[in-house]
Order: sequence, then C-alpha cells, then structure tokens
Amino acid sequence: MSAPTSVSFFRLYPCPVCGVSAALTFFDGGQAPLAALGWPRSTEEAQAMARYPLDFVQCTACGHVWNRSFRYEAVPYREHSNRMFNSGSLWRGHLAELAETTLAMLPQCPCVVEIGCGCGHFLQAPALRRIGRYFGFDPNGQAQAQTCFQFEARLFTPHEDLPRLAPDLIVMRHVLEHFTEPAAFVLQLAWAASRCAKPVRLLVEVPCIDRVFSTGRLADFFYEHPQQFGTESLRTLLERAGHIERLWHAYDGEVALGVVRLGLPAAWQERADAAARFAQASRQAKETIGAQLAQLATSGQRVVIWGGTGKAAAFMHYYGVDGERFPCVVDSDSEKVGTYVPGTGQLIRSRDELKANPPDVVIITTQWRAADIVMEMRREGIAAKQILLEHQGRLIDFWHDPHPYALPPM
Ligand SMILES: [Zn+2]
Repeated sequence: MSAPTSVSFFRLYPCPVCGVSAALTFFDGGQAPLAALGWPRSTEEAQAMARYPLDFVQCTACGHVWNRSFRYEAVPYREHSNRMFNSGSLWRGHLAELAETTLAMLPQCPCVVEIGCGCGHFLQAPALRRIGRYFGFDPNGQAQAQTCFQFEARLFTPHEDLPRLAPDLIVMRHVLEHFTEPAAFVLQLAWAASRCAKPVRLLVEVPCIDRVFSTGRLADFFYEHPQQFGTESLRTLLERAGHIERLWHAYDGEVALGVVRLGLPAAWQERADAAARFAQASRQAKETIGAQLAQLATSGQRVVIWGGTGKAAAFMHYYGVDGERFPCVVDSDSEKVGTYVPGTGQLIRSRDELKANPPDVVIITTQWRAADIVMEMRREGIAAKQILLEHQGRLIDFWHDPHPYALPPM
C-alpha cells in the first residue's frame, strides 16, 4: 500500500451524524449542476444550468461523508419531486422483499407513516394487503387517485404528528440522504416516540457508499445527496435514536437498511423532566424573590447589595434590583469600585463605606463566594442585622436557614 500523496486536513466541521468536529478532506468535486432535480428542457438550458459546490468531507469518528457546502435552499424540491425509478427487475425484487419484511413486523390493523413517500409506491404494498391506517407525507409528492392511504402534502412534524398518529412503524426510504441535519431529525423522532405509550419503529433505507471506498468510484457524489451513508455511519445514526433491531444490506450491497425501536436513554428522559422542573422553578423564583425584594424596599431598612458585576449583575437583572429601590451596591474587589452595575446602573462603592454606616440587610448576590464575603465582613468589622442570599427560589437567611454555602469549620 502506498502512502497518500498529500495529508488529509483535519477541519472543525461538525459531523451531521455523530456531531464530532473532526472532518477530513475527502473529495473535491468542483462545481456541478443539479444532477437529479434540474430537469433542463433543452441542450442550451442544460449547459447553462447553475453550478453548485461539491465539497465532500469525511468524519474521522464515524466515517460519514457529507457535502459541507450543501444548501437545502438550492434544491428546487417544490418544482420537481424526486422521481425514483422503480422498474428494474432486481430492484422490484428488493421492493417486494422489503414489503414482506415490513408486513412481518406489523401488528394486526397497524398504523404506518411514510415520510417522503413520493407517489406512495412503496406504502401501497402493505396498505393493500393488511387493513390498517396508512399515512404518506411528502410536501412535493403527488398521490395517485383512489389511493389506499391518506396522503398529506406537507412535511411530517415529529412532535405534533407522531403523538397524534401513534404509528407502529415510520418508514423513511431514500430520504435521509437529502437532509442537511439527518441526526437532528431522527433524534426528534426518537424524542416524540419516547412520549408515546406504545413501541414505535423506524425503518430507514439509504444508498450505501461502502463500495465507494473499495472501488474508488465518484458517480455517487452529486449535489442532491449531501449525506453519503456507509454502514458505520448509518449504524451511528440509528444507535442515537434507540435500539437497533436489524441493520442489513440489499440490492447487492448498494443500499443499507435499518430498523430501530425509537427511544431515548432513561438518563435523557430524566434530564428532560428535570429541565422542565427547573424552567418552572425559575419562573416561580422570579415571582417569589421579586415579592421579597419589594417588601424589603418598603420596610425602611437600609439594604446593601454585595457584588456588582458578573454573577451579581445577573442576579440584579433577573430579580429587577433597580437603582431606585436599591441604590447601594458594594464589591469586595477594589478594582470594580467606581464602575457601574451593567444594566441597572448603580455606582459600585467600596465596602469600606459600610464601616461607618452599617447596613440593616446585606444581600449576597454570589452564593459561590458567600462564605468568603461573610468572613471578610467579620474581618473588616462590617456588621449587618441580617445577611440574605438566593437559595431554592427565595431569599434565605445566611445564619438561620439551611443552605450549602456555610462557613468552613474553625
Ligand atoms: Zn461522524
């Protein structure tokens, strides 16, 4: 084996399948017109077609190949649907076999959704043989009259359509190679399916480029196929969407297929629930602490805010600590003295001013250095009747309420 004549460059483009930013220079195809969806009407029109960049890179981690210069807007799917040639005898054999495979994994009276169904050629096979609910989605497809499935001339929206239809099977044949972000879409399916009460399977079929590596052929690389899956990159994609039940090849290895039972890891679902709780609690905290601050502002007590920039400024922003009600802001850092709190505008004063004019209440805005501030107050002889800090959505008393920022043992 001879060494490569030039070293592949390692570039920071995130892989649309696994997300790793370690792309290798793979194939510079120059500029070429649309190959499958241009439909020129004359030689002149064909020769004058717009050219688009074919800049294929490969992911070091999962082996996926993609056109990093692809722009979805450049492809006129709306004017011309993608016409799949389904008449070759070997190809028809593959379709018939896949129809049997599909029927074998469906329950009685199934619900099946095909995303990017075109004219519904594939979906008709199971629909004609088993009673059930069948839906074909394609914003550009044209369903034939009197079809045995319901045609929807629009994009499939996972978080809306999947819970509504609760399909047993979602089919995506020769669709993902056209996407800009295939993993993002498949993850949306997995997310929506994890909210369904029943198992949802996804059947995927894509052109497979395993043979490209052994034959060196270039014809697979055209603009309308920005994603070029090999077995490993398809496996990587499907692993992220749930449990792979089957991964195989058909049509002499030219297409790769996979069936995955959609779902997310339990830890992801727990995190999603926790994030929803945090979002809810953050809204509640703004209300609760806002009300506590309003009460302090009208209590007649002298309130001092300790901390004027960074996390302190964030605290003041979130809870509306305005300069009118809370004009006195001090900071431990003498370099910040004389500057102003971003957003709310209070002049940041030296904490030394508190020695002669002690406050009633100090609000420590930065929990992470609360213990240091309390020790600093003690050391500098700055007394306050009460020290407050934000904890679990409310202002609590540093000395009397439980919290994790206590002074270290003496
Ligand atoms: Zn990758």
